[in-house]
Amino acid sequence: MIYLDHAAATPVSKKARLAMEPYFDAEFFNPSAAYLPARKVAAEYETAKATIARAIGAKATDLVITAGATEANNLAFSAAGEGEVLYLVTEHDSVRKVAERRGGEAIAVDRNGRILIEDLRKKISDNVSLVSVSLANNEIGTIQPLSEIAALIREVRFDRLSRGVRQTLYLHSDASQAMNLLDINVARLGVDLLTLNAAKVYGPKGVGALYVSHEVKLSPATVGGGQEKGLRAGTENVPSVIGFAAAISNAKEHIGGNRKKYAKWRQILLANLQGYELVNKKHTLDNFVVLCYNGLDAERLIFLLEERGILVSTGAACAASKGAKSHVLSAIGLSDAEISGSLRITLGETNDEEQILEAARAINEVVEGERRRINEW
Ligand code: PLP
Repeated sequence: MIYLDHAAATPVSKKARLAMEPYFDAEFFNPSAAYLPARKVAAEYETAKATIARAIGAKATDLVITAGATEANNLAFSAAGEGEVLYLVTEHDSVRKVAERRGGEAIAVDRNGRILIEDLRKKISDNVSLVSVSLANNEIGTIQPLSEIAALIREVRFDRLSRGVRQTLYLHSDASQAMNLLDINVARLGVDLLTLNAAKVYGPKGVGALYVSHEVKLSPATVGGGQEKGLRAGTENVPSVIGFAAAISNAKEHIGGNRKKYAKWRQILLANLQGYELVNKKHTLDNFVVLCYNGLDAERLIFLLEERGILVSTGAACAASKGAKSHVLSAIGLSDAEISGSLRITLGETNDEEQILEAARAINEVVEGERRRINEW
């Protein structure tokens, strides 16, 4: 099998798995219990949180551990209070659906999926309290200019202050896809809230974190035993958080090497494949190759490639399983035919160069076969 869908899921790395193992049996204690073995587990949990926080230049006390990025994104929107929200039109559904439920307005993107800053500027009225822009898109890998957006947010805050407008304004970013390839630092980015996802950095599924700057007030995601400073009650998922910490520090350590490696493999694919690239690679994650085979049906290509043991996708795994048209590809202005012919390849740690060459050969053969079939029809 050649797995080329690392944006959908990454396997748990050996490092993360070994780090987690003791916490399933020998160290199973509830961190809230009073006896010593439990207090030791509580301390190790806090150390793991500190490791996760350090990877983004933050402190353990700045993090709320959640059951994945979806929950972190939902929790982040509680920072908006009664105010209005803005979100990038290409956001993952876990941002888009929450924003839509609150009557949020979408910010437009250009042909490459990059934010139109002027559209954001135009839409930040005095009632807007939260702006949500992901660091990197999960379907096309577009990286957003977060520092530039943060500068605009600061400008708006100053302007509000000078006019006596009291509405707070926060910037949230979903960094689920970015952590393997970008050196993230919350202060440098200028974000107030940042979502992390263990499942995309070779950690376990169902665990994530929300970075919350100290000025931001949130409403609890769950109430109960008061864990996570009362913002997300429920017994701590100790093994997963330990695995998350091991995975994220490993990801951080290998950013440079991974970028070089994926950029090279991406070059090989582009040099060998016939489809054309949908977005300019200048501002995309190095592990994303999104190709358009105009006139072909990507769903059929995926099916035919799977028969040859090659796993790729059309876009977000959740949208693909529902057969829905990609809102991301529509937002960047693609025609229906281009959307139907779009294939997403996301490279990762399960791959090597030989696999990339083999995948390129197989994709070309499948594409040629499909073109022949359509011409003969
Ligand atoms: N945000 C982005 C950008 C994602 O790619 C994903 C997962 O695909 C999520 C959020 C949701 O993550 P989870 O399903 O782990 O909650």
